[in-house]
This record gives sequence, C-alpha cells and structure tokens, in this order.
Amino acid sequence: MDRRHFIRNMALAGMALGIPSRLWANDSHTQTEQPKLSGKGLQLTFTPYELKLRHSFNLAKFSRTTTPDVLTSITIDGITGYGEASMPPYLGESIESVTKFLSRLDLSQFSDPFRIDDIHDYMDGIAPGNSAAKASVDIALHDLLGKLMGQPWYRIWGLNPSLAPATSYTIGIDTPDMVRVKVEEAAPYKVLKVKMGLDRDRETIEAIRSMTDRPICVDVNQGWNDKHMALDMCHWLKEQGCLFVEQPMPKEMIDETVWLRERSPLPIVADEFMQGLADVPRCHGVYDAINIKLMKCGGLHDAYKMAVLARGMGMKVMLGCMTETSCAISAASQLAPMADWADLDGNLLIANDCFSGMKIVDGMITLRPDLPGIGATKI
Ligand code: MG
Repeated sequence: MDRRHFIRNMALAGMALGIPSRLWANDSHTQTEQPKLSGKGLQLTFTPYELKLRHSFNLAKFSRTTTPDVLTSITIDGITGYGEASMPPYLGESIESVTKFLSRLDLSQFSDPFRIDDIHDYMDGIAPGNSAAKASVDIALHDLLGKLMGQPWYRIWGLNPSLAPATSYTIGIDTPDMVRVKVEEAAPYKVLKVKMGLDRDRETIEAIRSMTDRPICVDVNQGWNDKHMALDMCHWLKEQGCLFVEQPMPKEMIDETVWLRERSPLPIVADEFMQGLADVPRCHGVYDAINIKLMKCGGLHDAYKMAVLARGMGMKVMLGCMTETSCAISAASQLAPMADWADLDGNLLIANDCFSGMKIVDGMITLRPDLPGIGATKI
C-alpha cells in the first residue's frame, strides 16, 4: 500500500471507529470529511534524558550502565503526542546527533498531522539515516493521530489484541551466579531471551536450566564465526527448549548463514543484518524471520509495512526494542498482534521509566482499547 492510500484508509477507519465528534466535520458524510483542526502548525519539542539501567548490559561486544535517550512531543490545538529516541552507542546516533537533527526540523509548516507521508519525506530530505531521531517524531505523530481519532493504533490497523504474543525477558551475558539472580527476577515472564556469543554460552544455558524449564530464545549478536560450531549449538539449543536463534553469525557471513539455515532445526532471525523496510527482501532465503525495531526502521510507519511485507514473503516477524521507556515500548506493542515473537522488555530493564503504558500480564503483552494513540501516558 502506498503512503497516500494508507493515510486515506486510516482516516476512513478513524471515522468508522467513532471519532469524537468535535474533531470531525458533521455537516456531511463524504470522503472529504476532515478533523476540525485550527490550521495551526505542529509544534515539536524535545528533551535529552539518560536512561539508567537496572543491571549493566553485557552483549558479546559491548557493556554499559546507561543509554542516552531523547523525549519528544508534538502538539496541535492543545493535544499532545509523545515520542522517544533511544540511542544504544553501537548504532551510531547520540544525544548530540538526535538533538541536532530535530533542531533542523520545522514542523510548524504542517497544519495537517495526518500527512505522515509528507512529514517522513520532509525528514528524509533534511538528512538520510538518523533513524532513531526520525522514530521519535514518527512515534509522537502516531500518538497524536491516535488521540485525535480517539483510538489506539492496533485498532486503527484492524488487529486482534488477543493475538499479541508473550514477551521474552532478556538475560544479559553474566556470571552463572548473576544469571541465576536474573532468572529469579524474570519469574513473571513465559519466555527468557538469553544473550550469547562468549565462551561460556553452554554454562549460561545450564545455569538457567538448573532453575527453570521455561522456553528460551537466544540472541548471539553475531558472536559465532564458525558455521559448523553454530550448527552444533543450534542442535544442542533445540534439545534445551530453545525457540529460535537470533543473528548467530556476523551479518557479512551471508553464505554461511544460508548454509546454517538450511540445516538448523531452529528458525534463524535477522537483526544486525537488517535495518529498515528496504532490507526485508534481502532477508528472504537467508533468514527465517526479521526482528523489527522502531529505533532502527524510523518508527511505526515503516514498521507496519515491514511486518506486512515479511509475512507476505513467508517470513516470521519478531518485534524487538532497545532499552527505552514505556513510550516506545507501548508504541511497538501496538504491532504485537502481527508478531510471532516479541522481545519488548526494554522498559523493564531501566530504573527511571517516565511513562506508564503497556503492561505485561501473565507474561503476555496486553493492549487496551481505552488508551488511544500509542497507549502510553507521561508520568
Ligand atoms: Mg538482537
């Protein structure tokens, strides 16, 4: 679906779903009806915010205790939508780059917030890349639009909330003793996501298995360089109750990943191999599934299309996240009914969440019809 058809369908869906009458012309019922907006331009604000992690976060190649973040808001006629950019250092964006990019935007030239396409085209024209910065605008814009329509996005997209999967809870690379502490903390979650890619991979899994038989999934973050060793691990992990393996080998090792996928008893998920919508086709035949992250793909506008495209190409869909507040997590969760697996625990890993939003109940992602937009409120 092209952007213009998407917007039109969305506006029509909004009308069908009972939009507050004050926001819509009521003197006709034609397709030209529009929200009654004053014609003033969109107002964008942004504030740097440092996320404090509850545990130091150890991946195969990095470790850190904070994540830089920028909170955004877009207001029109007294209604405000909220967004967020989270910038894990290895992705190349920073507080400086995001605030510099956002400073260059003049959204006051847009008096119609429904023109998502135009706003994305405008941002792409300012500078390429900057996907987290663009996501922070996109999320705020979606929140604003959902509030104007009085509906959460999963309803605007026509998704069934009961199809939302369980979310996994991430156990970072750590000593066996710390892994056991984290497994205890993860008691409410049905699936454990285990970070791997160091020498003690089997030791980590065995520490978890000494405590629980819950299903696990594994994220190797490109940590395995030998395809034969990777295949052995996939077979062993299958016996350990693993559901899938995320980015087992370096993203450049495409032939080796194809070889592994053809033999692996577990699905192989692309993460570092891909970024946004344009990367989905090249995942086909190399990976079984894609991991969609708002901060990498520039927000909900393309994330939705990525999920549709991946499914249309016969791939599975995983929803992932960075360490981020309940703002971006709630936004991503709106897509959860389209996902086979979800790893939306970034808000649970920080100590200073400044939003209240999507809640995990019995390990499952829950979506509420009474929370419009992205389903989050500022604390
Ligand atoms: Mg990953």
